[in-house]
Amino acid sequence: MSDCLIVGGGVIGLSLAYELAGHGCRVRVIDCGQPGKEASWAGAGILPPACPVADDPLEKLTAISNEMHRQWSAELLASTGVDNGYRRSGAVYLARNATAAEQLDRFAGLAHAQKIDAQRLTHTELDDLEPSLRPSGTVAAAYLVPDECQIRNPRHLKALLIGCACRGVEITSGAAAEDFEIRGGRIRAVRTNLGPLSADRVCIATGSWSAALAKKLGASPEIKPVRGQMVLVSLLRPAVSRIVNEGIRYLVPRADGRLLVGSTEEDVGFDRGTTVGAVAGLLQFALSLVPDLATAQVDRTWAGLRPATRDGLPYLGRVSGLDNAFIAAGHFRSGLQLSTGTALVMSQLIRGRQPDVDLTMFRVDRDQTSADIQGSPKRVRHELPLT
Ligand SMILES: Cc1cc2nc3c(=O)[nH]c(=O)nc-3n(C[C@H](O)[C@H](O)[C@H](O)COP(=O)(O)OP(=O)(O)OC[C@H]3O[C@@H](n4cnc5c(N)ncnc54)[C@H](O)[C@@H]3O)c2cc1C
Repeated sequence: MSDCLIVGGGVIGLSLAYELAGHGCRVRVIDCGQPGKEASWAGAGILPPACPVADDPLEKLTAISNEMHRQWSAELLASTGVDNGYRRSGAVYLARNATAAEQLDRFAGLAHAQKIDAQRLTHTELDDLEPSLRPSGTVAAAYLVPDECQIRNPRHLKALLIGCACRGVEITSGAAAEDFEIRGGRIRAVRTNLGPLSADRVCIATGSWSAALAKKLGASPEIKPVRGQMVLVSLLRPAVSRIVNEGIRYLVPRADGRLLVGSTEEDVGFDRGTTVGAVAGLLQFALSLVPDLATAQVDRTWAGLRPATRDGLPYLGRVSGLDNAFIAAGHFRSGLQLSTGTALVMSQLIRGRQPDVDLTMFRVDRDQTSADIQGSPKRVRHELPLT
């Protein structure tokens, strides 16, 4: 019997497994499909900077996560040989109308208050930094955020899977959790299509699919899928050297010359398909920023399902009324970024330690009735509806 059974092998479940196993726990991860192939694979891997001395628990969790990404990337490279592409590429934030510029200025003000470097750029400075960036229309505001980092999701998941295996984590693909045997205020077994599985403690980390499973534990976190489509293009030489953010869309340059163009936010249930309209819209957006992309090759398109919550905060905590049941889900647009910090605090909670971050705000039984499903701009920096 394992010390901890983690249901869901996305970046949240695998990171938690890696962390727990690092503390000597016997961990098993089950996934109904292939681990690391859902939202966690699909994401862009953008890691915006955060304030390390913040009081706000989300900001603190983000800052801890950022520092851990730096450490884990080096550690995983050394132990698995897989380079996850972690780098401090920096980012440019753009606004092309007055309303968007106002919002961007507010966002920069917030960043300054948190001692996050965000430098307003003149047109000439923008030109000098990114000569291929020739936005159509008027650039009403532009900022340089030098500390924005990035990671290549598929590579990070590959590194995590090998890292988990090296630490003795048992990973089972094609094992779907269907129900739970509950007695005496504890989960006695997780019922799966492969039969019942027992563990001392159980953590649900099934991303967009978590609400239905949690319901079987008597919990009612509000998590729904929000589809994000992506386009990958390749060029002979890199189009831009920094991440370019405009509203909810972005260009992410990879070190090998590829460019990721994202993304959409669509309320279409569990449909992971890509559509002509969205892909055309993303390509048009990319061309409106970098006209040279007209001759670039479209490599691939895909979509993933972000686990969205009403207030933009993930659920991190114990399930009320059950001694040994935990949930870590609902990270929406920041799950790759928050995966390391989530692993740290959930591992502390599961091992009976005091978490480094106050988790009250993230508790599973919080009231969500007055919140909006996609979160507030203050809480989810990538949610700024700038355009
Ligand atoms: C287009 C896009 C761009 C994004 N960009 C970024 C970004 O730049 N930065 C960032 O930080 N985040 C980003 N995200 C968000 C991030 O990818 C997610 O928040 C994160 O991947 C969620 O991870 P997860 O492990 O909770 O979910 P998932 O990766 O979806 O994993 C859940 C796993 O649970 C398994 N599962 C489901 N039900 C069961 C069951 N009953 N039994 C067993 N297993 C089950 C699934 O098969 C899956 O493998 C992006 C997401 C998308 C889609």
